[in-house]
Amino acid sequence: MLKEIYVDSAVTYEYPPDGATLPIIDPYDGCTIGCPYCFQLENENWNKNLIVKLNIAEILCEELIHWNKEDILYLGSKCDPYMNIDRKYQLTRKCLIELSKLNVKCMVTTKAGSKLIYRDIDIIKPMGDKFTLLLGLSNLEQLKRNDNYSLMSNIQTANELHRMGIKVWAFITPILPGITDVDLMINALDKDIPVFLDQVRLGKNNRPTIEKYIDTNYPHLASTYKDILNNNIDVYSDQMREKWSIDQRVKFVFE
Ligand code: SF4
Repeated sequence: MLKEIYVDSAVTYEYPPDGATLPIIDPYDGCTIGCPYCFQLENENWNKNLIVKLNIAEILCEELIHWNKEDILYLGSKCDPYMNIDRKYQLTRKCLIELSKLNVKCMVTTKAGSKLIYRDIDIIKPMGDKFTLLLGLSNLEQLKRNDNYSLMSNIQTANELHRMGIKVWAFITPILPGITDVDLMINALDKDIPVFLDQVRLGKNNRPTIEKYIDTNYPHLASTYKDILNNNIDVYSDQMREKWSIDQRVKFVFE
């Protein structure tokens, strides 16, 4: 159910496995992209509703007045900032306007696969190196279509924005054996776009969701994923790690 709310604070914090503390802005709480591997699924209350934080940009403006300009803010963790609902509410755009005015460094995460980010070029381009787009290539809805257009759509976005002078990092996170063709993706990206790889990370709640997704959509891969899920054997990810670790622009999210 869609719920419109007013918030008292805009920035929340997350603590990834590498021990970092990440300040996050989520204009929405909930996500319509539906990745079965999403780590937010570990929170059982997440995505019961799609919450729209109507006043987040105004609160952000007040909250960040004394923000250390060197500290990076991440936009999008419990939501994809460029999912379709932002066409209507434009909260991502409004937050970016505030960040731009305050000259705050930000990284925006998306794998929505929409071209909605082009709407905000007028804001992000002048932000220069204060803005980085973290563009995810493991959008299963796109990859399921298994046609060249869908496969290349996010890669094309990465290359086009990069050629406009916007800082773009590409993420194949997670590597999905039999579904994400890591070689093809890396080779199709412009040569100076950094690429980050990670294997499937399993939690109590996303494990059955991934299993069900594979059984339904890729039954021929069921035994491969059973090996990953039950025995922690991920031959393809290991091969990709070995192959690409010699390439300077390819990095692994968690070493
Ligand atoms: S786009 Fe991100 S937040 Fe949304 S379901 Fe996928 S991984 Fe989760």
